[in-house]
Amino acid sequence: MKAVYTFQNDKVTKLYIYLKKFEYPSPVGLFLGILAVLFLQFLIVLYHYYNVFYALHPSPVHINFDRSVSQKNFWRDLRTHVCNPEGFLLLGSYLCFTWMFRIMPESYYSYKGGISLSQFLQQLVLTDFLQTLMHLAEHHVSPRLYQLSHKPHHRFISPKLFDAFDGSLCDTFLMILVPLALTAQVVHCNVWTYMLFGSVYAAFLTLIHSEFEHVWDPFFKKFKIGTPSDHHVHHAKFCYNFGHMFMWWDMLLGTYRNPVTVKQFYPSR
Ligand SMILES: [Zn+2]
Ligand SMILES: [Zn+2]
Repeated sequence: MKAVYTFQNDKVTKLYIYLKKFEYPSPVGLFLGILAVLFLQFLIVLYHYYNVFYALHPSPVHINFDRSVSQKNFWRDLRTHVCNPEGFLLLGSYLCFTWMFRIMPESYYSYKGGISLSQFLQQLVLTDFLQTLMHLAEHHVSPRLYQLSHKPHHRFISPKLFDAFDGSLCDTFLMILVPLALTAQVVHCNVWTYMLFGSVYAAFLTLIHSEFEHVWDPFFKKFKIGTPSDHHVHHAKFCYNFGHMFMWWDMLLGTYRNPVTVKQFYPSR
């Protein structure tokens, strides 16, 4: 009994020494990263504003798209998008927590060197692969898990750009935070590459929900990189296109469906 007590006492002492020695990292990298994400999101809102109100020849994904509805609800939808607790609030908390408590690998706190394009691509591919696995699990593991996590996001049969992060806290945790945390432990990059990856990842998830196609989509389609019409297939048909940034996993699994085969969509332009 005395031995157990001494052992536990020892553990508490060790924890106390560790906590006393613990130093919070400088938050500069964290602030720069959050600013980079927000800046890119701000540019996306401007770009979307142009598409909704001014573009002369916008290319909606759906044939029966009504632009006046997007115009009428623009500011309300933007407010909802920004204030979603499962969106920027949960993601921001994740970034702050993992940074300040040094959960990120040591390399992430380094400002040495520039952006590594190869690590940036590795992060995108690995995160998307893990996100696809989590997405498949949410759909197929059990009806209860689906209801708790992903069902709220599927109320959008024909999503809009501002619906990108509208789902549930559980959905964001499983499908975004878990893949992000695992990727960070595998790809050890510096702070600059992390910033680029985080900003592009958040931008990508937003842009694929757009009710309009983008000018770069024909190029993306050649390499089976995700486009709004690819992701809209998932929202409309439910059991295809589980990937977000890359359609490669769906092509391997036989769950890829080309948007041109969906009759509610415009044929490829
Ligand atoms: Zn889904
Ligand atoms: Zn979606």
